[in-house]
Amino acid sequence: MTRPFDVATIRAEFPILTREIHGRPLVYFDNAASAQKPNAVIDAVANQCRTSYANVHRGIHTLSNETTEAYEAAREAARGLLNAPDTDTIIFTKGATEGINLVASALAGTIQTGDEIVLSVMEHHSNIVPWHFLRERNGAVLRWVGLNDDGSLDMDAMRAAIGPKTRMVAISHMSNVLGTVNDVTEVARLAHAAGARVLVDGCQAAVHLSVDVQAIGCDWYVFSGHKLYGPTGIGILYGTAAALSEARPYQGGGEMIETVSMDRITYNEAPHKFEAGTPPILEAIGLGAAIAWYRQFDQAEVQAHEHALYQKARDGLRGINGLAVHGEAPGKGSVLSFSLQGVHPHDLAQILDRYGVAIRAGHHCAQPLMTHLGVSATARASFGIYNTEAEVDVFIEALEKARGMLV
Ligand SMILES: *Cc1c(COP(=O)(O)O)cnc(C)c1O
Repeated sequence: MTRPFDVATIRAEFPILTREIHGRPLVYFDNAASAQKPNAVIDAVANQCRTSYANVHRGIHTLSNETTEAYEAAREAARGLLNAPDTDTIIFTKGATEGINLVASALAGTIQTGDEIVLSVMEHHSNIVPWHFLRERNGAVLRWVGLNDDGSLDMDAMRAAIGPKTRMVAISHMSNVLGTVNDVTEVARLAHAAGARVLVDGCQAAVHLSVDVQAIGCDWYVFSGHKLYGPTGIGILYGTAAALSEARPYQGGGEMIETVSMDRITYNEAPHKFEAGTPPILEAIGLGAAIAWYRQFDQAEVQAHEHALYQKARDGLRGINGLAVHGEAPGKGSVLSFSLQGVHPHDLAQILDRYGVAIRAGHHCAQPLMTHLGVSATARASFGIYNTEAEVDVFIEALEKARGMLV
């Protein structure tokens, strides 16, 4: 069942990796922003369009039934990836951002002035702004948990922040900037002991770690398909049966209701209650294919491969004068953020692009973290399943050349 891990065969399944950029082979190190797609995903979407496509759920006819089957098989694939107890706990969204907005919006009816939401300073804006809405509209108080010098979460501060007024603790499983992996199991335990709910942002963790939502014990878990080698426009929101049954629907429309009359409505059960209108059918099927493709591999082998790339790049940066790395927490994932003294990260990224190397530069949708680090932006190289050690060499050489031009 498990497929041997071989990076050359893996690369051959990603057509885009044969591209050249400015006359050089593409080195794609922007995986934390979005990952490339294998033929398994491209073909799953194209074949569905070509051979069996119709709207889901409402049909009696063959194509509708077949499409519904493929769509629900994708839900089962996502359930398996997260080890969720039941497919009814898996909601299709358009991405992690929509999932978090759904949870915040569902909570809004119960939040009163002075109720507290606990966040860490390493959160992505999509796990900050929806909670700011509750501050603006409901008078909720945001409580921020800081970091230790190595970029790990300050667990003492987390313990101190959670109290009787806490209604929600919203925390990333793995930081998209620092690569820090948080002890979300302990955070969930602390939150529940205080009677609060926990949402885990799994955008990076779903790609780089083995996730088990039941072992974590969180109420909510979100991720996006496009970082997991799947299509854009699709994400997963996992919620426990209890969290889902107390949550109000986020949007109204077809399929999420049981009955509609002129003066009343009754809701359908989860997951349908949260999937108003025609869902992203093809995107969900593409995500199902991405999960199936990804899960062919032994997760420990994938993680070891990515970690080796990270370590090689990290070691390469040591040789470059004036280079500082952000985030060195023990057990961190394969995301490498750095700054070169006196050089704007945008300039660095632009020169690297000329050498075919795609990295990201900016605040990475984590401005509170930038403030914490005392920078306005960082450069970031992030590694995926198809990257190679030879590409890390190209990256380090290009960085050295860029330094020569800019410093
Ligand atoms: C990418 C990312 C998000 C946002 O995901 P979208 O796909 O843009 O909705 C949130 N949190 C983390 C940690 C991310 O890496």
